[in-house]
Amino acid sequence: MRDSFVRHQRLNSFHKRSDAVIGKIDPTHKEVTVIGAGISGLLIADALKTKGYQVEVLESAPRVGGLLESKQTHLGLVECAAHSFLMTDAMVKHFEEIGITPISVNPKAKARYIYRNGKPQRMPLTFVEILRTLFQYLRRKPILSPTASFEAWGLHHLGEAATRFLIAPFVTGVFAATPQELDFRLAFPKVKQKEKKQMMTLPGGLESWALALRTRLHENIQLNRAVTTLRKIKNIVIATPAPQAANLLRATHPKLAELFEQIPYAPLITITVFAKSLDFGRKAPRGIGVLIPRGEGVRILGVLYNSSAFIGRVRNSDTTSLTVMLGGTTDPEALTLTDSQIEALLKKELNQVLGWSGESFELHITRWKNAIPIYGPRLRAALDTATAELTLQQPGLLLCGNWTGNVSLRGILSDVLTLNRNL
Ligand SMILES: Cc1cc2nc3c(=O)[nH]c(=O)nc-3n(C[C@H](O)[C@H](O)[C@H](O)COP(=O)(O)OP(=O)(O)OC[C@H]3O[C@@H](n4cnc5c(N)ncnc54)[C@H](O)[C@@H]3O)c2cc1C
Repeated sequence: MRDSFVRHQRLNSFHKRSDAVIGKIDPTHKEVTVIGAGISGLLIADALKTKGYQVEVLESAPRVGGLLESKQTHLGLVECAAHSFLMTDAMVKHFEEIGITPISVNPKAKARYIYRNGKPQRMPLTFVEILRTLFQYLRRKPILSPTASFEAWGLHHLGEAATRFLIAPFVTGVFAATPQELDFRLAFPKVKQKEKKQMMTLPGGLESWALALRTRLHENIQLNRAVTTLRKIKNIVIATPAPQAANLLRATHPKLAELFEQIPYAPLITITVFAKSLDFGRKAPRGIGVLIPRGEGVRILGVLYNSSAFIGRVRNSDTTSLTVMLGGTTDPEALTLTDSQIEALLKKELNQVLGWSGESFELHITRWKNAIPIYGPRLRAALDTATAELTLQQPGLLLCGNWTGNVSLRGILSDVLTLNRNL
């Protein structure tokens, strides 16, 4: 009976789970230790504190925020990783509560481009390809497997051209991986949600979100506290990346540890470029950015037009700020490029893609060996096993992070709010 219940849970757990915080708090004990002060750990700690729990947050780094890292430079803001989020009603309420006012994308610069045939284009499909896409979309099709890859989903619903020139660049822009590697429903669990979302950021950079939560949690946070073993505490929230969660669970949950350490991550380099606007000829890049499909003779994955998309990103109006993404699962060797090799590559490719023709620019390079978890079959297996095990066992152990169901900041917040409602 128990075996069949576990099997049933494994088969269905992921689809049933409306939130992606795994495990249960033991409400009979009011103390909680949260390991990791990235945005996941901070949000969950703040939610638990508000509910009356005594919270301690242990963070190995000397700062909070994890992947949210914003630097002010003499030319403008550098976001080392995340730069924006999709604003939902829940986020509006959350930011009001913590006293932050987000800014929206410049209404005059909302265009997004895909690079094809040597230039950025708003609609990269030809007329014939659009007709074929529509035909494929409207055709009666057999039902697709719930564990289909994003590529299979795209080919099934939209056909080849749309999959290659619309879906693949979008997927790479979010996950730094290819549609073949991603499980469609796992990567986009709430794709049917209808709420209209707007792209937004924070005036001082996204790290200010983590800093606002740090202020609220002040005396509860201990920095430079790398946790290596789990003490017997009644409630523990692991809010670290998967490899560190595996290390923490090795003694108590060896099976989960083995699954977690096998979760693959995409590597990524982000490069913020400050260039003279005049070096782009008559027109500096305008819009949100350009994504570059593979096979177009360009190595970089995409460029975000920071100074066009958001106000206040540069100190002088004659400066253009861009963030270039390089690497991903199709180009892991990019991580071995030196700074000067990256500079040479960007001089060539920013000329090719955006018409930049200056002599020099200033670069801020951040290398992420394990940037983004790959929402594919191995992650699905790990999460389904974790959901079944931690739901059946004693409460008191929770897992929460960008690998437990949602990569995006919007998704992570939504998970924590769901947990909060259920506490
Ligand atoms: C390049 C890049 C760009 C992105 N852009 C966007 C974007 O524009 N919009 C968006 O919505 N999302 C974006 N994301 C995704 C988003 O930033 C992340 O999913 C999110 O910030 C992850 O937060 P987290 O708290 O789960 O993990 P992390 O930020 O990784 O935090 C984990 C924390 O745990 C700590 N830790 C680890 N091990 C231990 C230990 N043993 N003891 C104590 N502490 C420990 C770490 O030091 C870290 O502070 C981007 C991600 C990357 C990499």
